[in-house]
Amino acid sequence: MKPTRQLLSGNEALALAAIDGGTSAAFGYPGTPSTEILENLARHAAPGLYCEWSPNEKVALEAAAGAALAGGRSIVTMKHVGLNVAADPLMTLSYIGVVGGMVICVADDPGQHSSQTEQDTRHYARLAKVPILEPANAQEAYDFLREGFEISEKYRCPVILRTTTCVSHSRCLVARAAPRPQNHVQFVRNPPQFVPLPIWGRKLRVGIEERLDAQAADAARRTTLNTILPAATADCQQPLPTAPLGIVSSGVAALHAREIFPDSPMLKLGWAFPFPDGLIRDFAATVERLLVIEEGDPILEEHIRALGIACDGKNLVPRCGELTPARIAESRARLEGRSANLPAPVPEAADLPGRPPILCAGCPHRALFHALARFDVVVSGDIGCYSLGVFPPLNQTDTILCMGGGFTVAHGMTQAGEPRRVVGIVGDSTFFHSGITGLLNSVYNQSPAKLIVVDNRITAMTGHQDHPGTGTTLMGRSTHAASIEALAAACGLERIRVCNPYDQAALHTILEEELAADGPSLIISRAPCPLHLKRRIAPQRRIDPDLCRNCRACLKCGCPAIESPDKTAKPRINETVCMGCSLCQALCKFGAIATRAGQ
Ligand code: SF4
Ligand code: SF4
Repeated sequence: MKPTRQLLSGNEALALAAIDGGTSAAFGYPGTPSTEILENLARHAAPGLYCEWSPNEKVALEAAAGAALAGGRSIVTMKHVGLNVAADPLMTLSYIGVVGGMVICVADDPGQHSSQTEQDTRHYARLAKVPILEPANAQEAYDFLREGFEISEKYRCPVILRTTTCVSHSRCLVARAAPRPQNHVQFVRNPPQFVPLPIWGRKLRVGIEERLDAQAADAARRTTLNTILPAATADCQQPLPTAPLGIVSSGVAALHAREIFPDSPMLKLGWAFPFPDGLIRDFAATVERLLVIEEGDPILEEHIRALGIACDGKNLVPRCGELTPARIAESRARLEGRSANLPAPVPEAADLPGRPPILCAGCPHRALFHALARFDVVVSGDIGCYSLGVFPPLNQTDTILCMGGGFTVAHGMTQAGEPRRVVGIVGDSTFFHSGITGLLNSVYNQSPAKLIVVDNRITAMTGHQDHPGTGTTLMGRSTHAASIEALAAACGLERIRVCNPYDQAALHTILEEELAADGPSLIISRAPCPLHLKRRIAPQRRIDPDLCRNCRACLKCGCPAIESPDKTAKPRINETVCMGCSLCQALCKFGAIATRAGQ
């Protein structure tokens, strides 16, 4: 009987592969485009499969390592920048290895659709000396994760599975294979293997090189993951020895390249590191010219050149941004010395409304930024919805570095002598992720930087995931809700203020007092995300056109519910969008904004 096939995204396929592959425990931190892997896993998991949102990626990777050291199969999920946070345990885990299979699912974001950087996770595989698998679609995501467990257990090392936004979010029909039972879990003591003190670590170091050689040989032989595809066009399917051009590619770029170069054979690498040198050499010997098409950095290209094989690559293929069929078609045109002759892009509909990136109607972050705008401060922001505070009309973010950096960058500015007051802002999820240590540092070193947690009670930007402060786990259990103010007090902070940002008068007073105070202080700007609440904050507001003087002060809060097509028309509030936060009402000096009648 043919296996049933399901239409799945790459992330859904990874979740089902983890279940079918006998995973005992799964960990992660939300981050687009990886978030739905754990969400789907928790949704479909049978009893006996443990899933959690960890406070950050380092914690998640360490927990997954613990599960694998005890013999269970584990996965850990994160976006590419999350692996920066988890890099420390990854390096050592490569030395001590695992017992049960462990796969690190990392989603890269070429084109930076939702990320601050465009980094290539393949560099981490080389640095940590662990295998990396690159599925090209959802079916391969399913197959490769299960294969990743096998490779991990065979070589007793973690395996990275790298997807990209396109693979994570695009869908195809996926056939599932027979499920496999979970491993027996019982930790077996073995200090020379699991305790990398130098006396044992030096032996482990040598073992890694031997492991890499064995894996490279394995990768060269494994035709299910690394495949030579003959040219797809009929007249080029003659026996080799030589085709005029051969393509080397990996991941989803290989599918696009196949579309643009159907007349050329391709070495499609699903297991690209350790490099399958034998396979690369064999393929190169069958073509007159080699073109490497890889999304991201020229990692394959540089290695192929290091093997003494001439090839084209980033001289023709873009290094930055997502590789699409159109961009690869341009590369082909460059290779052949002609113009690309691409079909004209589909024109945008003339009547589509503009959708600038702005905070949602009723967002409590808007209220905080609006109040902050009255003070002359430098604002060090962080990663979250509140990053949007940088845009007009709020203009209240001056720098963003990384998760947790909001506090620490602010501290550094003050210690360097910045003459203005400096404010560091992080979200609640970011506070638990890596903001706590920055706060601790501010207290320890008595920083004059003012710290603000914009606490909307959820990890909002990635789609409302729970975190240690929400009181609920990924598996839906009630748990202790960590208190930001209690943690700050435990760090030794004395000035802690909590306020509702919609109460602009009270918030203004608190900001005035804390900005004038010496030493560190923390303001917790607390109001839940209205989208997560799924209800209005209060009755909707409306503008009375008879009272409105068209002074346009209400527009300065930047709420998308307030519409004003041109300066001659008085603003109006779109009742389908308004969440009733009252911020605009507080701005109107003429009493033109009031609760909508009947609410
Ligand atoms: S602030 Fe009041 S008076 Fe001014 S434009 Fe808005 S509604 Fe009209
Ligand atoms: S009350 Fe005013 S600021 Fe708040 S959501 Fe409605 S229109 Fe926007």
